Amino acid sequence: MPNTVIEQAPTQVQAPFDVARLRQDFPVLAREVHGKPLIYLDNAATSQTPQQVIDVFSDYYSRYNANIHRGLHTLADEATAAFEGTRHKVRAFLNAEDARQIIFTRGTTEAINLVVQSWGRKTLSPGDEVLISMLEHHSNIVPWQLLAAEIGFTIKVIPVEANGALDMAAYRALLSERTKLVAVNHVSNALGTINPVREMAALAHQHGALILIDGAQAAPHQVVDVQAIDADFYAFSGHKVYGPTGVGVLYGKQALLEAMPPWQGGGEMIKTVSFGAGTTFADIPHKFEAGTPAIAEVIALGRALEWVESVGVDAIGEWEGQLLYRATQAAGRIDGLRILGTAPQKAGVLSFVVERAHSQDIGLLIDQLGVAIRTGHHCAQPLLHHFGVDATCRASFAAYNTLEEVDSFIEALNRVIGMVR
Ligand SMILES: *Cc1c(COP(=O)(O)O)cnc(C)c1O
Repeated sequence: MPNTVIEQAPTQVQAPFDVARLRQDFPVLAREVHGKPLIYLDNAATSQTPQQVIDVFSDYYSRYNANIHRGLHTLADEATAAFEGTRHKVRAFLNAEDARQIIFTRGTTEAINLVVQSWGRKTLSPGDEVLISMLEHHSNIVPWQLLAAEIGFTIKVIPVEANGALDMAAYRALLSERTKLVAVNHVSNALGTINPVREMAALAHQHGALILIDGAQAAPHQVVDVQAIDADFYAFSGHKVYGPTGVGVLYGKQALLEAMPPWQGGGEMIKTVSFGAGTTFADIPHKFEAGTPAIAEVIALGRALEWVESVGVDAIGEWEGQLLYRATQAAGRIDGLRILGTAPQKAGVLSFVVERAHSQDIGLLIDQLGVAIRTGHHCAQPLLHHFGVDATCRASFAAYNTLEEVDSFIEALNRVIGMVR
């Protein structure tokens, strides 16, 4: 099957996108790998971290390390203010109504597990249906399977078209009064497909179902407005949006979160604890944040979002669109290379396989040339099996990648293919 190449070059970025300046914020980009300048194209797995975010850690631990909320001393006050400051930044970043709707988790995975274990366990019964899509990351499949095995509700899968776009007619047909929740990603990590989540939310709501959106791949690349989408739940991870690992976010509609039971018990999530008179729980968001959170990480996430906004999320997305266009055009000319995922709406992910070459070999050899791409199933085994492969090579772009890096990557790819064939 021939690769569909994008017909129209994306519109040029309006203001000059100063990638050379922006790269200086990222110390790791200056390093070499196997004696070659690093070309980091594994951003869908984790993005690199600007110095401004790295500095948060030494600043926090050298000046105001303290446990939050309960303390009355100065350090505790400062740590609490910085921690809660991130909650307000995330609220603005997602255009949520209220900061109390922002719950800190360890990442997207834990945010989804929170919804599954709290909302799902309370709400779902045998006969109910949860719709997920063929494009899902394992973290939006397996938690539902674990609970379904216990409770006996049914998981149905929205199929994809040959180009990797969701089959919207099939989605419409799957929705019914049995549907209680639709759980889909906003952008596919394996193919880069951007899903029409606003339309999907409206359709889900027409059937009385809720929608959970896994935004791990969307938050770094496009403005997310949870109110415009009308998302019931929205999740993303810090480490994919130029922040640290160990922290992520769950947004939920206020009435939903208030009606949901806690999912983990411990300190910080209670109002009163007693052995006789019963234990009462804190209000949202603290009801869902048992124990000492990742304080420095949360503060650093706030700094990462400031960094992203200083560059402009839409400007980043447009720049990545140019990188993707150049890479797609060039890769499409390589003999025997098949691109997986050619949906009209795509974020900066180029997934491909090469005839008579193992993806693993390509990944290992191209690393020798300084190029970091990811090979494997990208935590989306059902999707890859649907396309008849076990693994792909995936190059994924971020704000700091350059057009020259794309050219070097393609040159390296051609060399490597020549070696393995
Ligand atoms: C990375 C990713 C996840 C999981 O995120 P974690 O940070 O590992 O919890 C879930 N969904 C998508 C689409 C992802 O790209």
